[in-house]
Amino acid sequence: MSNFSNHNFANQKALIRVDFNVPLDKTTLAITDDTRIKAALPTIQKILKDGGSVILMSHLGRPKEGPEDKYSLKHLVKHLSDLLGGKTVFFANDCIGEQAVLTASMLKAGEVLLLENLRFYKEEEKGNEDFAKKLAALGDVWINDAFGTAHRAHASTAVIAKFFPKEKRFFGLLMEAEVNAAEQVLHKAQKPFTAIIGGAKVSDKILIIENLLEKATDIIIGGGMAYTFMKAQGGQIGSSLCEDDRLQTALEILAKAKAKQVNIHLPEDSIIADKFAADANTQIAQSNAIQDGWMGLDIGTNAANKFSEVIKYSKTILWNGPMGVFEIEKFQSGTKAVAVAVAASTQTGAFSLVGGGDSVAAVNQFGFNDKVSYVSTGGGAMLEYFEGKTLPGIAAVNE
Ligand code: AMP
Repeated sequence: MSNFSNHNFANQKALIRVDFNVPLDKTTLAITDDTRIKAALPTIQKILKDGGSVILMSHLGRPKEGPEDKYSLKHLVKHLSDLLGGKTVFFANDCIGEQAVLTASMLKAGEVLLLENLRFYKEEEKGNEDFAKKLAALGDVWINDAFGTAHRAHASTAVIAKFFPKEKRFFGLLMEAEVNAAEQVLHKAQKPFTAIIGGAKVSDKILIIENLLEKATDIIIGGGMAYTFMKAQGGQIGSSLCEDDRLQTALEILAKAKAKQVNIHLPEDSIIADKFAADANTQIAQSNAIQDGWMGLDIGTNAANKFSEVIKYSKTILWNGPMGVFEIEKFQSGTKAVAVAVAASTQTGAFSLVGGGDSVAAVNQFGFNDKVSYVSTGGGAMLEYFEGKTLPGIAAVNE
């Protein structure tokens, strides 16, 4: 782990890769959720407090061919300035080139500069070395605080590292917190260790389940993906979500779990609906006996109770993916019940990490974000971490 907190950044220009890829309103271009900006503030503030200056670089959206106004980071300047207590935030309308070099060189202690969208250059995603070198020239030290893009080997997230000696490369505080939380679960988990895996597709979650079979004592499987497991075991699932090309995979996962003595918990009952809509008719059914014309859109009461019991006896909990279509009120009770159980378990001493995808949205929506030990800001990155992969953005700082 890096030495960020112990380092004094006085008189240094800190080039920070942040993840300011925030959602903007399509018409007003106002920020609709500033969580990611807020998450980077402690890192920025520490450097400013030390008497250093800050150069922020990020991507925003997916620009296709060069600069596009709707993806300009200039739309974030005012809000960032407000979050920093009214501090002036300078803006360079190109992340490399003369203006960026000049503004960066004139930056004084305590000042902040935001660079234009890195992805206005295709070199960023390609991990182009020359581009990375130009970025590197702007700062004295490089700090990676963009956990959300840590799984990408882009110019600013990984390649840039080679232009800074090891003692000038740091994880920011957000990155440190993310890595610590993930390590706590992956390598220091107290048992029982329960992984709750939900969401739509088995195919998206195979690698994470396989890796967790080596670590967890219990794996709860909910959401749309549970029905592929039901069908694989001969169940009748009506028109529930199913990946027919993954039936064999589901059986293999069950067999491996048995061999490794990992308990797999599937939802015994489901809330079924006659259509995928808020005004659907609903009823409860056994998850392996769903009539034609009906689909499972949430776990049932018995499943929610059983899952809650397992969660309550756990000492380590990892949660990735909702138990049902929580975006529709009728189908959110299962996800809510799991959130309640995770919160209760956390209160009695369990370490709980919610990471990746829609479970984070669900936990935030239900107001449980401060009742779990850690909510990850990095969807895809956290998922890859739990798949057991080495994340380039982390390796670049450490190596
Ligand atoms: P993921 O991104 O893989 O975690 O999947 C999240 C999505 O899965 C959410 O949009 C949920 O609405 C959806 N989902 C969860 N359970 C079901 C289900 N039983 N049937 C269809 N979609 C579901």
